[in-house]
Amino acid sequence: MTLLSHTELLELDAQYCWHPFTQMQTATAPLAVVRGQNEFLFDAQGKKYFDAVSSWWVNIHGHSHPAIAQAIARQAAELEHVMFAGVTHPPAALLAQQLIQHAPTPMAKVFYSDNGSTAIEVALKMAFQYWQNKGVPDKKRIIALEGGYHGDTFGAMAAGKSSGFYDPFKPWLFEVNFIPTGVCHCTEEAALATLNQLLEDSASDIAALILEPLIQGASGMRFMRPAFVAELCKRCKAADVLVIFDEVFTAFGRTGTLFAADQVAEFGGQADMICISKGLTGGFMPMAATLTNQAVYDAFLSDEVGRALLHGHSYTANPLGCAAALASLALFSHESTWASMRNIEAIHQSWLPTLACHPWIENPRVCGTVAAFELKSKQSQCGSSYGSNTSQWIRETFLELGIVVRPLGNTVYWVPPYCTAPETLENAYQTLMQILQRWGSLTAPGPGSELF
Ligand SMILES: *Cc1c(COP(=O)(O)O)cnc(C)c1O
Repeated sequence: MTLLSHTELLELDAQYCWHPFTQMQTATAPLAVVRGQNEFLFDAQGKKYFDAVSSWWVNIHGHSHPAIAQAIARQAAELEHVMFAGVTHPPAALLAQQLIQHAPTPMAKVFYSDNGSTAIEVALKMAFQYWQNKGVPDKKRIIALEGGYHGDTFGAMAAGKSSGFYDPFKPWLFEVNFIPTGVCHCTEEAALATLNQLLEDSASDIAALILEPLIQGASGMRFMRPAFVAELCKRCKAADVLVIFDEVFTAFGRTGTLFAADQVAEFGGQADMICISKGLTGGFMPMAATLTNQAVYDAFLSDEVGRALLHGHSYTANPLGCAAALASLALFSHESTWASMRNIEAIHQSWLPTLACHPWIENPRVCGTVAAFELKSKQSQCGSSYGSNTSQWIRETFLELGIVVRPLGNTVYWVPPYCTAPETLENAYQTLMQILQRWGSLTAPGPGSELF
């Protein structure tokens, strides 16, 4: 890569780049990253940062992991890409086999795409067309959970409409019925009651339920019990409604099992389709897959082309992505990977009591390698939003101290790469304590603290 100084890089970026989820007018300069290794990122001035959010949750085994880097390099020298319509290649076929073999419940086929949003689009299109192919075209409504996030393409936005990110696009989003998210016992009851009512009134109109099993990520790391998710699945199955699990975030070990669905399956809940992306390639290549069971696949078999799923992307089943995914999956067969994951969870757990009685923290929680809490704010009645000053202050203060976080409003979370050394995570918690102290003194009530 051409060598740019820190300043040159930032100047080029400012002149030519438009960043995602960013109000470019008010944004501060981006972190200028030139290198990554294990759980760390290095900026153009050589400063080291702990990537405590795994680069938007995609990184699994650490940055520039040699096994995955080599797998990609070998594959690039052999076959970089070929279209996947009418063509196949070893990495795609082998990866599909692996994914089906590792699937939490019986799955039959893998449909590849490029990113989390496209994996969701594919699943939604499959659900819609499934019922048309079955001769039940009225079943075309989607049910989703309030606050669910499924990506930024149109179908995914419709299913995630209640997350509040999509106001400018609302007129173009199809209708979706939302049920409460069961994050505690009372909301579980409300969710099940709403679902029951919907199924009773209009199961004949409903194509599918889509949800993020165990953790709603983008809406603030909201956790659900596996038994609750299983109950939703069972009720849908009984009412002939397909279930789509959006495991774009939760798959590949985040919740402590390879898939979140592994835990749901223990309570007898099963999805018909599972969408995966972020961690699929270990965070190396943009790639996604929609796994389906046999029944969904069979509904597309016919002598007529029109019954087929007429959907595809130029880079479907890209060999480099498949090679990266195979290498990443292979690392899960090492007991040491799982040991590090359990270690991360143990460190999170060991800090829970401290967080639980901290004056500025609310609702600390742990699920697998994910830990989250809400930062109490004096202005909490103003609500929290992505662009809020609170989240920006937290982000910038952590960055100063060498840690990359990206709070969701006032929800702060750790989603570290699994290779994270125990002392890195311990240090991050110590830094958090320092930052909370600063936060406390910034917002402490008392004379002169009224800023308005
Ligand atoms: C990130 C995410 C998506 C969208 O994935 P992209 O690759 O960003 O399009 C969908 N669903 C969930 C649960 C996600 O966390």
